[in-house]
Amino acid sequence: MANDLMDKIVSLCKRRGLIFQSSEIYGGLGSVWDYGPLGVELKRNVKEAWWKSVVYSRDDMVGLDAAILMHPKTWEASGHLTSFADLMVDCKKCKKRFKAEDLSDKKKCKECGGELTEARPFNLMFETYHGPVKETAAVVYLRPETAQGIFVNFSNILDSSRKKLPFGVAQIGKSFRNEITPGNFTFRTREFEQMEIEYFVNPNDADKYYKSWVEERFDWYLNLGIKKENLRKREHKKDELAHYAKSCSDIEYNFPFGWSELEGIANRSDFDLKQHSQFSGKELKYFDDKTNEKYFPYIIEPSGGVDRATLAFLVDSYNEEEVKGETRVSLKLHKDLAPTKIAVFPLLKNRPQLVETAKNIASSLKKKFVCVYDDTAAIGKLYRRQDEVGTLFCITVDVQSLEDKKVTVRDRDTMQQERIDIEKLEEYFHNKL
Ligand code: ATP
Repeated sequence: MANDLMDKIVSLCKRRGLIFQSSEIYGGLGSVWDYGPLGVELKRNVKEAWWKSVVYSRDDMVGLDAAILMHPKTWEASGHLTSFADLMVDCKKCKKRFKAEDLSDKKKCKECGGELTEARPFNLMFETYHGPVKETAAVVYLRPETAQGIFVNFSNILDSSRKKLPFGVAQIGKSFRNEITPGNFTFRTREFEQMEIEYFVNPNDADKYYKSWVEERFDWYLNLGIKKENLRKREHKKDELAHYAKSCSDIEYNFPFGWSELEGIANRSDFDLKQHSQFSGKELKYFDDKTNEKYFPYIIEPSGGVDRATLAFLVDSYNEEEVKGETRVSLKLHKDLAPTKIAVFPLLKNRPQLVETAKNIASSLKKKFVCVYDDTAAIGKLYRRQDEVGTLFCITVDVQSLEDKKVTVRDRDTMQQERIDIEKLEEYFHNKL
């Protein structure tokens, strides 16, 4: 049943232009995905909702867009060069590769019973060369997280924005990890997008802000429509924590393949700025003019995945119901996330006046809302297509419309139909959206 649901979602994503396998015409590149015409809208809406919530609606946050390539010393300071590795094990018989931590029997392959190799560390960072010469000195890495771009810009941001503690920096961007066992569609991939916050605080306030960020981030998913019973917090036990972390909680979603992490919120202590201060030789302490002290701020880090959040919104909103003896599939996405808000159809496409009226309505609504015109199928099919991608409202222009200047507007969730004056459509949707 569970995998059945994932199969349905993967197939819907391809059929309706949400998500495609990367380079599919060449047989595909494993665990890399492209967002199609509607997927890009959905993903942009997820990012926009996050940015609005953590940057625009607060006075203590600013944004950043740092480069993917960074000075290699960054990864020495952060510890990624030495310890961003998983233990990898191969089966000598079937050649399958596993993460050692996923195996209960370290000697025997769980797929074919064959003999396993010794576990050996495998660094997850992708390497490339900076400049034309392929030599060791030119090795750089595709960032495995966006966070380091924020830490190394701490002074720049502080000096230019004149923020005082507590304040935070938000960033959305691509990260890359050469995962040993990627999978579950877009859940674990080798190229993905993160939305990360680094929130700088006085060490004495760290626990308070850690707790409030856990709550705030949890509520963000609920406010965007994730069902309560499918979301939970999981506090890490002391032996799970990174050596520098004081505390960490994951926000988990009940995916068809089990409860899995959407986002982690950690109290990272003063580790990051101390490390970068030491490796760069630059002073990264903060002068607190309230206490006249200089110190390394503690950092609270809410770090989430755009692709994982998008997948959770897709799975959670997927709905099947029987309507007039047929299965109606719809995505009951939150109005801020739905890729298309309004679709306009002529009831009959061989009636030029209906087509023209419908096109005019669509082009006028397009100025304010994400709206599409469609006449490429019979009306029932047009409705079904829009339901499957979560379009909030469908407008149908019929023969009567030419006389009474009204159209039928159907609501995705209630399926209620209303006759609305063409002239009042903009106001109507303004109130609804
Ligand atoms: P996991 O334990 O699932 O590998 P992680 O704890 O290593 O995740 P972090 O390093 O805390 O993940 O990264 C922060 C967020 O970035 C995760 O909560 C997740 O949403 C996202 N993320 C991390 N790795 C991937 C990946 N390979 N594919 C997609 N999203 C990812």
